[in-house]
Amino acid sequence: EKTTVLITGCSSGIGLGLAARLAADGARRFKVFATMRDMAKGEQLLAHLGGCCPDTLEVLQLDVTDPRSLAAATRRVQGQRLDVLVCNAGVGLMGPLETCSDHAMKTVFDVNLFGAVHTIQAFLPAMKRRRAGRIIVSSSIGGLQGLPFNSVYCASKFAVEGLCESLAIVLQPFNIHLTLVECGPVNTSFLANLQRPDPEGSELQDLDAETRGLYRRYLQHCQSLFRETAQEVEEVLQVFLEAISTPCPPLRCVTTQLFAPLSRLRLANPDGSAYVRAMHDFHLAAAAYGCPPHLPAVLLGDPGDGAGDPEEDAQDAGAALPDFSDV
Ligand code: NAD
Repeated sequence: EKTTVLITGCSSGIGLGLAARLAADGARRFKVFATMRDMAKGEQLLAHLGGCCPDTLEVLQLDVTDPRSLAAATRRVQGQRLDVLVCNAGVGLMGPLETCSDHAMKTVFDVNLFGAVHTIQAFLPAMKRRRAGRIIVSSSIGGLQGLPFNSVYCASKFAVEGLCESLAIVLQPFNIHLTLVECGPVNTSFLANLQRPDPEGSELQDLDAETRGLYRRYLQHCQSLFRETAQEVEEVLQVFLEAISTPCPPLRCVTTQLFAPLSRLRLANPDGSAYVRAMHDFHLAAAAYGCPPHLPAVLLGDPGDGAGDPEEDAQDAGAALPDFSDV
Protein backbone atom coordinates (compact mmCIF):
# COMPACT_ATOMS: atom_id res chain seq x y z
CA GLU A 1 0.00 0.00 0.00
CA LYS A 2 1.15 3.52 -0.78
CA THR A 3 2.33 5.97 1.86
CA THR A 4 0.01 8.99 1.70
CA VAL A 5 1.61 12.39 2.20
CA LEU A 6 -0.08 15.79 2.42
CA ILE A 7 2.17 18.83 1.95
CA THR A 8 1.29 22.51 2.41
CA GLY A 9 2.83 25.31 0.35
CA CYS A 10 3.49 23.29 -2.82
CA SER A 11 3.35 26.09 -5.40
CA SER A 12 7.07 26.78 -5.09
CA GLY A 13 10.35 25.95 -3.40
CA ILE A 14 10.73 23.07 -0.98
CA GLY A 15 7.04 22.06 -1.01
CA LEU A 16 6.98 21.95 -4.80
CA GLY A 17 10.24 19.97 -4.90
CA LEU A 18 9.10 17.48 -2.28
CA ALA A 19 5.69 16.92 -3.92
CA ALA A 20 7.28 16.38 -7.34
CA ARG A 21 9.95 14.09 -5.95
CA LEU A 22 7.50 11.85 -4.08
CA ALA A 23 4.91 11.78 -6.88
CA ALA A 24 7.59 10.78 -9.40
CA ASP A 25 8.99 8.01 -7.19
CA GLY A 26 10.03 5.16 -9.50
CA ALA A 27 8.60 2.49 -7.22
CA ARG A 28 5.33 4.47 -6.86
CA ARG A 29 5.51 4.18 -3.11
CA PHE A 30 3.69 7.46 -2.38
CA LYS A 31 0.32 9.10 -2.90
CA VAL A 32 0.85 12.85 -2.62
CA PHE A 33 -1.75 15.47 -1.77
CA ALA A 34 0.08 18.59 -2.93
CA THR A 35 -1.76 21.57 -1.50
CA MET A 36 -1.40 25.21 -2.42
CA ARG A 37 -3.12 28.47 -1.67
CA ASP A 38 -3.42 29.49 -5.31
CA MET A 39 -4.35 26.62 -7.63
CA ALA A 40 -3.35 28.69 -10.65
CA LYS A 41 0.26 28.13 -9.57
CA GLY A 42 -0.12 24.36 -9.92
CA GLU A 43 1.34 24.50 -13.41
CA GLN A 44 4.84 24.73 -12.03
CA LEU A 45 4.35 21.46 -10.20
CA LEU A 46 2.99 19.75 -13.31
CA ALA A 47 5.91 21.14 -15.34
CA HIS A 48 8.23 19.36 -12.90
CA LEU A 49 6.40 16.15 -13.68
CA GLY A 50 6.65 16.50 -17.44
CA GLY A 51 3.32 18.24 -17.86
CA CYS A 52 1.00 15.51 -16.67
CA CYS A 53 -0.56 14.69 -13.33
CA PRO A 54 0.33 11.11 -12.43
CA ASP A 55 -2.08 9.04 -10.37
CA THR A 56 0.34 9.38 -7.47
CA LEU A 57 -0.53 13.08 -7.24
CA GLU A 58 -3.61 15.05 -6.29
CA VAL A 59 -3.44 18.83 -6.20
CA LEU A 60 -5.69 20.47 -3.62
CA GLN A 61 -6.43 24.08 -2.74
CA LEU A 62 -5.36 24.92 0.79
CA ASP A 63 -4.74 28.32 2.31
CA VAL A 64 -3.51 27.44 5.81
CA THR A 65 -4.91 30.71 7.17
CA ASP A 66 -8.45 30.01 5.93
CA PRO A 67 -10.53 27.62 8.11
CA ARG A 68 -13.01 26.91 5.27
CA SER A 69 -10.24 26.03 2.87
CA LEU A 70 -8.68 23.76 5.51
CA ALA A 71 -12.01 22.07 6.23
CA ALA A 72 -12.56 21.42 2.51
CA ALA A 73 -9.06 19.95 2.06
CA THR A 74 -9.52 17.77 5.15
CA ARG A 75 -12.81 16.44 3.73
CA ARG A 76 -11.11 15.57 0.43
CA VAL A 77 -8.52 13.48 2.23
CA GLN A 78 -10.99 11.91 4.66
CA GLY A 79 -11.46 8.23 4.19
CA GLN A 80 -7.91 7.86 2.99
CA ARG A 81 -5.48 7.20 5.74
CA LEU A 82 -2.93 10.04 5.97
CA ASP A 83 0.50 8.70 6.86
CA VAL A 84 2.58 11.86 6.65
CA LEU A 85 1.62 15.51 7.11
CA VAL A 86 4.21 18.06 6.00
CA CYS A 87 3.55 21.58 7.33
CA ASN A 88 5.78 23.53 5.01
CA ALA A 89 3.91 26.74 4.10
CA GLY A 90 5.79 29.74 5.44
CA VAL A 91 6.50 33.39 4.86
CA GLY A 92 9.38 35.65 5.88
CA LEU A 93 9.58 39.20 7.14
CA MET A 94 12.74 41.24 7.43
CA GLY A 95 13.46 44.71 8.64
CA PRO A 96 14.00 46.83 11.74
CA LEU A 97 11.31 45.97 14.30
CA GLU A 98 10.13 49.59 14.48
CA THR A 99 9.07 49.38 10.84
CA CYS A 100 7.15 46.09 10.93
CA SER A 101 3.45 46.76 10.42
CA ASP A 102 0.87 44.96 12.53
CA HIS A 103 -0.55 43.50 9.35
CA ALA A 104 2.80 42.06 8.23
CA MET A 105 3.58 40.65 11.71
CA LYS A 106 0.15 39.10 11.98
CA THR A 107 0.48 37.47 8.57
CA VAL A 108 3.79 35.85 9.57
CA PHE A 109 2.22 34.34 12.69
CA ASP A 110 -1.01 33.41 10.89
CA VAL A 111 0.91 31.39 8.29
CA ASN A 112 4.00 30.11 10.13
CA LEU A 113 2.50 29.37 13.55
CA PHE A 114 -1.30 29.22 13.41
CA GLY A 115 -1.26 27.77 9.89
CA ALA A 116 0.78 24.83 11.19
CA VAL A 117 -1.33 24.58 14.36
CA HIS A 118 -4.63 24.45 12.45
CA THR A 119 -3.31 21.98 9.88
CA ILE A 120 -2.04 19.67 12.62
CA GLN A 121 -5.33 20.02 14.52
CA ALA A 122 -7.23 18.98 11.39
CA PHE A 123 -5.33 15.74 10.81
CA LEU A 124 -4.22 14.75 14.30
CA PRO A 125 -7.41 13.03 15.56
CA ALA A 126 -7.35 10.45 12.73
CA MET A 127 -3.64 9.80 13.27
CA LYS A 128 -4.26 9.31 16.99
CA ARG A 129 -7.10 6.87 16.31
CA ARG A 130 -4.82 4.85 14.05
CA ARG A 131 -1.96 5.22 16.49
CA ALA A 132 0.35 5.92 13.57
CA GLY A 133 1.57 8.85 11.54
CA ARG A 134 4.29 11.38 10.99
CA ILE A 135 4.24 15.13 11.11
CA ILE A 136 7.10 17.05 9.56
CA VAL A 137 7.32 20.80 10.04
CA SER A 138 9.50 23.23 8.05
CA SER A 139 11.27 25.21 10.72
CA SER A 140 14.47 27.18 10.19
CA ILE A 141 17.87 27.99 11.63
CA GLY A 142 15.89 31.12 12.58
CA GLY A 143 13.89 28.84 14.90
CA LEU A 144 17.10 27.97 16.77
CA GLN A 145 18.97 31.26 16.69
CA GLY A 146 17.74 34.82 16.80
CA LEU A 147 18.89 36.41 13.53
CA PRO A 148 19.20 40.19 13.32
CA PHE A 149 16.44 42.05 11.45
CA ASN A 150 14.39 38.84 11.41
CA SER A 151 12.87 39.28 14.85
CA VAL A 152 9.25 38.52 13.97
CA TYR A 153 10.13 35.68 11.60
CA CYS A 154 12.40 34.15 14.28
CA ALA A 155 9.68 34.65 16.90
CA SER A 156 7.28 32.66 14.70
CA LYS A 157 9.77 29.85 14.10
CA PHE A 158 10.82 29.75 17.79
CA ALA A 159 7.09 29.42 18.51
CA VAL A 160 6.88 26.53 16.05
CA GLU A 161 9.83 24.87 17.80
CA GLY A 162 8.15 25.18 21.19
CA LEU A 163 4.85 23.96 19.80
CA CYS A 164 6.42 20.84 18.32
CA GLU A 165 8.72 20.11 21.25
CA SER A 166 5.70 20.13 23.53
CA LEU A 167 3.47 18.15 21.20
CA ALA A 168 6.07 15.46 20.47
CA ILE A 169 5.99 14.39 24.11
CA VAL A 170 2.25 13.79 24.05
CA LEU A 171 2.40 12.07 20.65
CA GLN A 172 5.06 9.56 21.66
CA PRO A 173 2.61 7.06 23.24
CA PHE A 174 0.46 7.34 20.08
CA ASN A 175 3.39 6.27 17.91
CA ILE A 176 3.19 9.56 16.00
CA HIS A 177 6.59 10.97 15.09
CA LEU A 178 7.06 14.70 14.89
CA THR A 179 10.10 16.14 13.13
CA LEU A 180 11.25 19.72 12.73
CA VAL A 181 13.44 20.30 9.68
CA GLU A 182 15.63 23.34 10.24
CA CYS A 183 16.90 24.75 6.95
CA GLY A 184 19.61 27.35 6.55
CA PRO A 185 19.58 29.42 3.35
CA VAL A 186 17.97 27.45 0.50
CA ASN A 187 17.77 28.53 -3.14
CA THR A 188 14.04 29.14 -3.43
CA SER A 189 11.93 32.22 -4.02
CA PHE A 190 11.77 32.66 -0.22
CA LEU A 191 14.31 35.51 -0.07
CA ALA A 192 12.79 37.27 -3.08
CA ASN A 193 9.24 36.79 -1.74
CA LEU A 194 9.81 37.91 1.80
CA GLN A 195 8.60 41.30 2.83
CA ARG A 196 11.41 43.72 3.59
CA PRO A 197 11.60 47.47 3.40
CA ASP A 198 14.12 49.07 1.06
CA PRO A 199 16.81 50.70 3.26
CA GLU A 200 16.78 53.73 0.93
CA GLY A 201 12.98 53.89 0.68
CA SER A 202 10.45 56.13 2.37
CA GLU A 203 9.29 53.37 4.74
CA LEU A 204 12.46 53.89 6.78
CA GLN A 205 12.53 57.68 6.71
CA ASP A 206 11.60 57.97 10.39
CA LEU A 207 14.14 55.38 11.48
CA ASP A 208 17.39 56.50 13.08
CA ALA A 209 20.33 56.59 10.69
CA GLU A 210 22.43 54.12 12.69
CA THR A 211 19.81 51.33 12.53
CA ARG A 212 19.26 52.09 8.85
CA GLY A 213 23.02 51.66 8.31
CA LEU A 214 23.08 48.36 10.19
CA TYR A 215 20.10 47.13 8.20
CA ARG A 216 21.76 48.11 4.90
CA ARG A 217 24.85 46.13 5.93
CA TYR A 218 22.77 43.17 6.99
CA LEU A 219 21.00 42.98 3.63
CA GLN A 220 24.39 42.93 1.86
CA HIS A 221 25.66 40.28 4.25
CA CYS A 222 22.52 38.25 3.77
CA GLN A 223 22.86 38.35 0.01
CA SER A 224 26.45 37.16 0.13
CA LEU A 225 25.56 34.50 2.69
CA PHE A 226 22.88 33.18 0.33
CA ARG A 227 25.22 33.43 -2.65
CA GLU A 228 27.96 31.51 -0.88
CA THR A 229 26.12 29.01 1.26
CA ALA A 230 22.55 28.48 0.01
CA GLN A 231 21.66 24.84 -0.49
CA GLU A 232 19.75 23.58 -3.48
CA VAL A 233 16.23 22.27 -2.89
CA GLU A 234 17.34 18.76 -3.91
CA GLU A 235 19.88 18.76 -1.09
CA VAL A 236 17.40 19.68 1.64
CA LEU A 237 14.83 17.23 0.26
CA GLN A 238 17.13 14.42 1.39
CA VAL A 239 16.47 15.45 4.97
CA PHE A 240 12.69 15.42 4.42
CA LEU A 241 12.88 12.02 2.69
CA GLU A 242 14.88 10.66 5.60
CA ALA A 243 12.27 11.99 8.07
CA ILE A 244 9.55 10.29 6.00
CA SER A 245 11.21 6.91 5.74
CA THR A 246 13.54 6.31 8.67
CA PRO A 247 11.96 4.10 11.37
CA CYS A 248 12.49 6.51 14.25
CA PRO A 249 12.99 10.06 12.99
CA PRO A 250 14.48 12.58 15.42
CA LEU A 251 12.59 15.61 16.76
CA ARG A 252 15.03 17.97 15.06
CA CYS A 253 17.22 17.81 12.00
CA VAL A 254 19.23 20.61 10.46
CA THR A 255 19.89 20.53 6.72
CA THR A 256 23.36 22.05 7.10
CA GLN A 257 26.06 21.94 9.77
CA LEU A 258 27.21 25.43 8.81
CA PHE A 259 25.50 27.15 11.73
CA ALA A 260 26.19 24.43 14.29
CA PRO A 261 29.11 26.33 15.88
CA LEU A 262 26.80 29.29 16.58
CA SER A 263 24.14 26.95 17.96
CA ARG A 264 26.75 25.31 20.18
CA LEU A 265 27.98 28.69 21.35
CA ARG A 266 24.39 29.63 22.19
CA LEU A 267 23.97 26.52 24.34
CA ALA A 268 27.40 26.84 25.92
CA ASN A 269 26.70 30.43 26.94
CA PRO A 270 23.41 30.42 28.87
CA ASP A 271 23.50 34.12 29.73
CA GLY A 272 23.67 34.91 26.02
CA SER A 273 26.25 37.70 26.08
CA ALA A 274 28.98 35.87 24.14
CA TYR A 275 26.32 34.69 21.70
CA VAL A 276 25.01 38.21 21.05
CA ARG A 277 28.57 39.47 20.46
CA ALA A 278 29.39 36.60 18.12
CA MET A 279 26.14 37.04 16.16
CA HIS A 280 26.77 40.78 15.87
CA ASP A 281 30.30 40.19 14.61
CA PHE A 282 29.16 37.59 12.15
CA HIS A 283 26.02 39.20 10.76
CA LEU A 284 26.59 42.91 11.15
CA ALA A 285 30.23 43.79 11.71
CA ALA A 286 31.91 42.00 8.80
CA ALA A 287 29.99 43.90 6.15
CA ALA A 288 30.45 47.12 8.05
CA TYR A 289 33.99 47.63 6.87
CA GLY A 290 33.48 46.57 3.30
CA CYS A 291 35.23 43.26 3.87
CA PRO A 292 34.97 40.90 0.97
CA PRO A 293 32.20 38.40 1.65
CA HIS A 294 33.66 35.60 3.67
CA LEU A 295 32.68 33.24 6.39
CA PRO A 296 34.29 33.84 9.73
CA ALA A 297 36.39 31.12 11.26
CA VAL A 298 33.64 30.27 13.70
CA LEU A 299 31.61 28.88 10.81
CA LEU A 300 34.47 27.07 9.17
CA GLY A 301 36.92 25.97 11.81
CA ASP A 302 36.75 24.14 15.06
CA PRO A 303 34.94 26.30 17.59
CA GLY A 304 36.12 24.12 20.44
CA ASP A 305 36.21 20.46 21.16
CA GLY A 306 32.52 20.46 22.06
CA ALA A 307 33.46 17.74 24.50
CA GLY A 308 33.51 19.40 27.79
CA ASP A 309 33.84 22.74 29.39
CA PRO A 310 31.07 24.95 28.03
CA GLU A 311 32.86 28.10 29.23
CA GLU A 312 35.93 27.11 27.27
CA ASP A 313 33.89 26.29 24.18
CA ALA A 314 32.15 29.63 24.41
CA GLN A 315 35.51 31.36 24.64
CA ASP A 316 36.91 29.32 21.77
CA ALA A 317 33.97 30.15 19.57
CA GLY A 318 34.19 33.81 20.47
CA ALA A 319 37.92 33.85 19.91
CA ALA A 320 37.57 32.24 16.49
CA LEU A 321 35.58 35.21 15.24
CA PRO A 322 37.51 37.92 13.46
CA ASP A 323 38.17 40.90 15.66
CA PHE A 324 36.85 44.05 14.05
CA SER A 325 37.08 46.21 17.14
CA ASP A 326 40.06 48.20 15.93
CA VAL A 327 39.42 48.25 12.19
P1 NAD B 1 8.79 29.52 -0.89
O1 NAD B 1 8.41 30.94 -0.73
O2 NAD B 1 9.15 29.05 -2.25
O3 NAD B 1 7.66 28.54 -0.34
C1 NAD B 1 6.75 28.87 0.67
C2 NAD B 1 5.39 28.39 0.22
O4 NAD B 1 4.42 28.67 1.22
C3 NAD B 1 4.96 29.11 -1.06
O5 NAD B 1 4.56 28.16 -2.01
C4 NAD B 1 3.79 29.96 -0.59
O6 NAD B 1 2.82 30.14 -1.60
C5 NAD B 1 3.27 29.11 0.55
N1 NAD B 1 2.35 29.87 1.41
C6 NAD B 1 2.49 31.11 1.92
N2 NAD B 1 1.37 31.46 2.59
C7 NAD B 1 0.52 30.40 2.51
C8 NAD B 1 -0.79 30.15 2.99
N3 NAD B 1 -1.46 31.07 3.68
N4 NAD B 1 -1.36 28.95 2.73
C9 NAD B 1 -0.69 28.02 2.03
N5 NAD B 1 0.53 28.21 1.52
C10 NAD B 1 1.13 29.39 1.76
O7 NAD B 1 9.99 29.26 0.11
P2 NAD B 1 10.61 27.88 0.67
O8 NAD B 1 12.03 28.17 0.90
O9 NAD B 1 10.24 26.73 -0.15
O10 NAD B 1 9.89 27.81 2.11
C11 NAD B 1 9.34 26.63 2.64
C12 NAD B 1 9.52 26.61 4.15
O11 NAD B 1 10.91 26.57 4.45
C13 NAD B 1 8.97 27.85 4.86
O12 NAD B 1 8.29 27.42 6.03
C14 NAD B 1 10.21 28.63 5.23
O13 NAD B 1 10.01 29.41 6.39
C15 NAD B 1 11.21 27.52 5.44
N6 NAD B 1 12.61 27.97 5.31
C16 NAD B 1 13.10 28.45 4.11
C17 NAD B 1 14.42 28.88 4.03
C18 NAD B 1 15.03 29.42 2.77
O14 NAD B 1 16.13 29.98 2.82
N7 NAD B 1 14.44 29.25 1.61
C19 NAD B 1 15.23 28.84 5.17
C20 NAD B 1 14.71 28.35 6.36
C21 NAD B 1 13.39 27.91 6.41
